[in-house]
Amino acid sequence: MMRIWDENAGKAQLKLSGSEHNHLAFVLRAKVGDGVIALRGDEFDYFYIIESISKKESVLTLIDKRKNECNPARELSVYLAVITNDNLALACQKLNEIGATRLVLFSSAYSQKQKINLSRLAEIARQSCKQCGRSLPLRISFLGDIKNLNPEIKNKKIAFLDNYAKKSAKPNFSKFDGIIVGPEGGFTEAEREFIASFTTPISFGDRILRAETAAIVGTGACLLG
Ligand code: SAH
Repeated sequence: MMRIWDENAGKAQLKLSGSEHNHLAFVLRAKVGDGVIALRGDEFDYFYIIESISKKESVLTLIDKRKNECNPARELSVYLAVITNDNLALACQKLNEIGATRLVLFSSAYSQKQKINLSRLAEIARQSCKQCGRSLPLRISFLGDIKNLNPEIKNKKIAFLDNYAKKSAKPNFSKFDGIIVGPEGGFTEAEREFIASFTTPISFGDRILRAETAAIVGTGACLLG
């Protein structure tokens, strides 16, 4: 089923123009009579039928509304130090697919110092929803400095993905509410001690993963394991 994103989803009629219309008409080659699911970031799939489609505009009529069945069954927050924009974009898309519910960015001694474009990341999560089917996108925020992790995380079970941690028996990943991942340059010794004081340090093994890889496989371990 084709999916579009429209904040007006749920209205009796939708008129699409611009990029959603172009995608539907020229990439997906939708035809009059085709069914389309419209998403708007709530818990529902809105089912529409295409009434008309022209070069500039398509008109859709609502036929049904059903609870979305692709949304994550549980909460998982990924606390990721700021990495380069391209790698943030990749992590954002993959975490949305795998089923994380929050991506919380923070700065640390060796994190990237560039401006973070939260609205671009939110757009990537919405686009990913159209592909993977969930209707509630990954929620993305910036926490500020690493020291804010502690109050934010209080009373939560968090895995600290730490390439310096001792290899241990396979932990039970399903118990974690979140994971912490460092930047490309890693954490300082003091930062590692600070984070380890309120989390469970875990190493994935012998190789050093890139930050976005660690975030992706860590999310997979918690949600798909
Ligand atoms: N140059 C850095 C490597 C950082 S890798 C250093 O020497 O420390 C980026 C982040 O990915 C790390 O801070 C850690 O959170 C995570 N990571 C990388 N490899 C990992 C592994 N084998 N196990 C667990 N976490 C890992």
